[in-house]
Amino acid sequence: MSSLQVTVIGTGYVGLVQGVVLSSFGHHVTCLDLDTAKIAQLNAGICPIYEPGLNTLLAEQLQSGRLLFTSDTQAACRTANLFFIAVGTPSGDDGSADLAAVLTVAKSIGEHITDHAVVVTKSTVPIGTGQKIRETIKKTLAQRNSPVSFEIASNPEFLREGKALDDCLNPDRIVIGCESVATQTLLTELYYPLHAKGIPFLYTSIESAEMIKYSANAFLAVKISFINELSLLAEKTGANIIDVAKGMGMDKRIGADFLACGPGYGGSCFPKDTLALRHIADTHDESLAIVEAAITANAKQKNRVARKIIDTFHGNAHDKKIGILGLSFKADTDDVRAAPVLDIAPLLVRAGARLRVFCPKGMPEAKWRLAPYSQAITYTDTALSCAENCDALVIMTDWSEFKTLPLAALASTMKTPILLDFRHVYVHHPDIRQYFVYYALGIGDSHPQ
Ligand code: NAD
Repeated sequence: MSSLQVTVIGTGYVGLVQGVVLSSFGHHVTCLDLDTAKIAQLNAGICPIYEPGLNTLLAEQLQSGRLLFTSDTQAACRTANLFFIAVGTPSGDDGSADLAAVLTVAKSIGEHITDHAVVVTKSTVPIGTGQKIRETIKKTLAQRNSPVSFEIASNPEFLREGKALDDCLNPDRIVIGCESVATQTLLTELYYPLHAKGIPFLYTSIESAEMIKYSANAFLAVKISFINELSLLAEKTGANIIDVAKGMGMDKRIGADFLACGPGYGGSCFPKDTLALRHIADTHDESLAIVEAAITANAKQKNRVARKIIDTFHGNAHDKKIGILGLSFKADTDDVRAAPVLDIAPLLVRAGARLRVFCPKGMPEAKWRLAPYSQAITYTDTALSCAENCDALVIMTDWSEFKTLPLAALASTMKTPILLDFRHVYVHHPDIRQYFVYYALGIGDSHPQ
């Protein structure tokens, strides 16, 4: 395997993990980001995000001398022949993916490359973006009268935050959208350790690769919304959603993953990618009824969760003190982007409740995202102090430390020991009802009163 010279542009959750993993494969990687504070942290060996295992691998790769971090675009572009664009593609006002950062990066590449380059999109981008990137680079090269040649490719990322390293080291598949055998060979060589251990590689057109990413995320969002809606029905009909999901998931045609109900999907991908896919369909005069339904069901789920909490107080949460455990959109990440709590907490505050909250890693980001409601929110240091004097305690995210809470102490520090468990953390605990009036989402026979 030859060692390639790679530049990864954007050192967020995707770009940083990609850079560190490629370095661990033996490649020479330069990670470029505009955020100079982040680059300074990374050069000092400090990981700016919480991702299990990343700190250690980052330190190892920095030590190897193969991994560099810089804010110098010119230097980062001069040294590489293979570029990954891994910048953000947030939702615009109309739900479309905002491509400003992606196209800015494409322009920078056009301005600075000095040799043949392959430019690969890792960011999640609408179908047809590869061609926009090509046009942008071509135009920029023409403006500087440069004869340098380049190719574009798409290599969407499927990692899950909280499991990002494992997902990149043991992915289900690598999707490569490209237009030449040379690029296909180059990218296969890049991922040689994965190829060698039998990870499937799928080679497609650039457009298909771009669409695979949105289709996969939309499908998973549909699956989550489906089980979330059924959880509400299970509750009303006396069924147990855990058994229902288990019975469904045992069918190989359905599969057991993504059938855990909860307070709604969140994070930096499913909400924005479902909106973007809907927008792409709109621009092609198509409508995606099932994706639309997932978006609607997700909004409904968050409203229902808030309603369920308020109903614990017979519909009047005024002056009630509610503890919330878990602010990040899921466990093992500090990412609070589009987390369900960002919609649910304001609904509770507007209903007159005061919140005490705790999250192992999500507090710094939640503080600024929930800043408009700060007067009604107290940030606490532990799960136990979060519960202090509360009228009810809510489990919003299933961090593993919430699985071993001191139940007796927790219940006795509360004003009224009511536990609303939206992640089934204590659903199988034999003594939970000894300590709490306990409610679990989707379980027909468990009601707080
Ligand atoms: P992020 O916001 O965490 O990181 C983006 C980084 O790009 C930031 O550090 C930002 O400073 C940098 N950046 C922006 N403009 C730049 C420029 N012109 N030059 C250099 N750096 C620049 O984003 P993320 O979560 O890593 O997501 C990146 C892309 O990957 C998105 O399209 C996202 O949809 C996709 N994706 C994300 C995940 C995930 O779980 N986060 C998974 C798969 C795919």
